[in-house]
Amino acid sequence: MEINNENSRLYIVRCGEVALKGMNKPYFERVLLERVRNAIKDWDNDSHWAGGLMLVRISDKIGKDEAVRRLSKVFGVASVSPAISVEKDMKALGQAAAQYVSQLMEEEDIKTFKVKAKRSDKSFPVQSPEIGAEVGGAILSAVKDIRVDVHNPDLLLFADVRREGAYIYRDKVKGFGGLPLGTNGKGLILMSGGIDSPVAAFMMAKRGMRIEAVHFHSYPYTSQRARRKVEDLCRVLAGYMGTIRMHVINLLPIQEEIVKNCPQDETTILVRRFMMRIAQEVALKTHNMMLITGEDLGQVASQTAEALVVTDKVVDIPVMRPLIAMDKVDIMDKAKEIGTYDLSIQPYEDCCTVFLPKHPVTKPKLDRIEQSESALDVEALVKAAVESEEVVDISFDSIAE
Ligand code: ATP
Ligand code: MG
Repeated sequence: MEINNENSRLYIVRCGEVALKGMNKPYFERVLLERVRNAIKDWDNDSHWAGGLMLVRISDKIGKDEAVRRLSKVFGVASVSPAISVEKDMKALGQAAAQYVSQLMEEEDIKTFKVKAKRSDKSFPVQSPEIGAEVGGAILSAVKDIRVDVHNPDLLLFADVRREGAYIYRDKVKGFGGLPLGTNGKGLILMSGGIDSPVAAFMMAKRGMRIEAVHFHSYPYTSQRARRKVEDLCRVLAGYMGTIRMHVINLLPIQEEIVKNCPQDETTILVRRFMMRIAQEVALKTHNMMLITGEDLGQVASQTAEALVVTDKVVDIPVMRPLIAMDKVDIMDKAKEIGTYDLSIQPYEDCCTVFLPKHPVTKPKLDRIEQSESALDVEALVKAAVESEEVVDISFDSIAE
């Protein structure tokens, strides 16, 4: 369908850091536009840059809230406003503003308003304070039962006169900011079903990193349901970062070897070292530049400073731990904000809880751990695990939103 002013709504999309990118700005702008177009590709739309703003027209068959929700989920988007574009003329601005306000009053309870005018087009003959006053006056004379409140208005209305056009809009809905996906390499998240790893994946993706995932299970000790939970978490994340490829690996053969041959109190750290080794092999063959984990300093026995050092020794590629210095409550808040929390707290078993020692070592010594591992054929175990992987591509299902 051909998109025009009659059959569509306008949304103003503002970018955050992309605007600061200096010489690389055209590149970031181009990628962001591509990401926005991709996020709404199943809707008739017309999207382009105009000055420092992205103007997105979407078919009016799509609800405003739904459109704003999708647009604000694109990384690199700082805020979104449903808007109307107006001729650069004071009379037109006043009329459009009055019409915009009456329409809003049909949908919600608005008794007071304030107009905030902006004029970045300095050739426009009327200055901001006068634009505000005139547009406010036009609203007061055309709309019944509304008055001005400059301190605490029900509706804050913007009249924005720019070089490329004039716009009327209300509140901005905040996006997540960050940088467009794909502008910062690709990383492999070690994805459990917990609260932390989905948040870690989100945070790296928000900085422009494409994400692939690896998940370890201990089937049949861990259930199919537990695995489906991890897939569901990836599905939520895919709403922000597109289809996620997940490598699924059964760790049980390795866990059994460890339990049979190594000191019981070292099981946790030994298993973690295997996870990292396997993840690194998967990363190398899939062109992921780094590993990402949801580790958080001091949270559990395997995440003491000493344990992290011993864990890190088995890999050569960088390991990103974006949550390392965050408090658990803040991670939980973030999980709620991005929509993974309710899934994460579903009580399904994780492979880490299988064969959990009663008293795990919290301050492992590298030489002791290496000594214990010498009872195992590490290389062969890692190779077999990597070769046994299953690969699934998990896409966001917009109907399940
Ligand atoms: P999470 O909430 O992410 O599960 P956690 O606080 O439970 O983290 P651990 O279980 O010690 O902490 O795991 C630390 C990190 O190791 C996880 O954040 C994740 O990156 C990785 N990890 C743990 N279990 C698995 C698994 N079954 N598959 C893949 N990665 C895992
Ligand atoms: Mg966990």
